[in-house]
Amino acid sequence: MKKLICILLISNLILCACSKKNETVHGFAMDTYISITVSKKDVPAAKSAIKKCRDYEKIFSRTDKKSELWKVNHEGKTPSGELLDVINFSLSVSEKSDGAFDITVAPLSTLWNVKERTYPPSAEEIANALKNVGYKRLDTQSFSLNGTTLDLGAIAKGYTADKIFEDFKAQGIKKAIIDLGGNIYVIGEYTVGIRSPFKTDEAYCTITLKDKSAVTSGAYQRYFDYEGKRYHHIIDPKTGYPSEGDIASVTVISPSSKTADALSTAIFVKGTDALSLCSLYDDTGALIIMNDGEIKTTEGFDEKYNLKK
Ligand code: ADP
Ligand code: MG
Repeated sequence: MKKLICILLISNLILCACSKKNETVHGFAMDTYISITVSKKDVPAAKSAIKKCRDYEKIFSRTDKKSELWKVNHEGKTPSGELLDVINFSLSVSEKSDGAFDITVAPLSTLWNVKERTYPPSAEEIANALKNVGYKRLDTQSFSLNGTTLDLGAIAKGYTADKIFEDFKAQGIKKAIIDLGGNIYVIGEYTVGIRSPFKTDEAYCTITLKDKSAVTSGAYQRYFDYEGKRYHHIIDPKTGYPSEGDIASVTVISPSSKTADALSTAIFVKGTDALSLCSLYDDTGALIIMNDGEIKTTEGFDEKYNLKK
């Protein structure tokens, strides 16, 4: 197949369509727009992948009252299988990131509900929700939530992207762009643009990926503004407020999309020092765009991913 050069922004916008041999299948699941670009013969596989996203949504959704996670959070169900795997992996990231990544933020995500809110909750409401937050409450041995609830919003898309990647590989698919609302996994080599956090319809820089996932977390994705201040959806589990720092966005590159997803959130909360978390995972690197526009990367990143500003 002719080599494709395709620029896509990490966050669901393909700038230039690929060759005529390809097709993009669109869908909506996990509260996000999904697009999967494959060669024409692989369209059925792309359609199955979109169905797979819906199937995983039925496991991982925090808000769907029929989901498996809802039953764990509200009906005393003990998680098993893939749900338990994701919970255990999440706990390991919480430990490594000293709680910056924490799926027990659910009481706070529910309170902040940035999708619908127009003004921040009171300090008292936040303090009350915070009492039920903290990954150390969670006991996965005898499974007990100990008063908290779980939110897999910062990892479910990554986990799903990994599973689609594995399916595509098993089917011998050699070229694909799997884009779950900014959680990207490419099969084959592609140059992708990292969305500017300042002008969100533009690329800030480009990188070249081969058989890798790239995931971005940023304050510009989901938020509301109130009295001149921005309140976004990534919460600092220590304060109970949207995390405040000098980072505009974090992009993590890894062969494991669940790792990239979790780490992009963790580094966003913890700050630039947390770039060192990448070294704990195989073949994983990161790029931070600071609020003042400066780019910071892990060692060797710029050459490895052919970073162009
Ligand atoms: P997105 O999924 O919007 O691309 P993230 O991967 O950074 O962005 O995940 C943010 C989502 O994860 C929030 O909407 C919320 O559901 C949940 N979340 C917020 N703060 C944290 C945190 N500190 N640790 C784990 N999950 C979080
Ligand atoms: Mg994430």
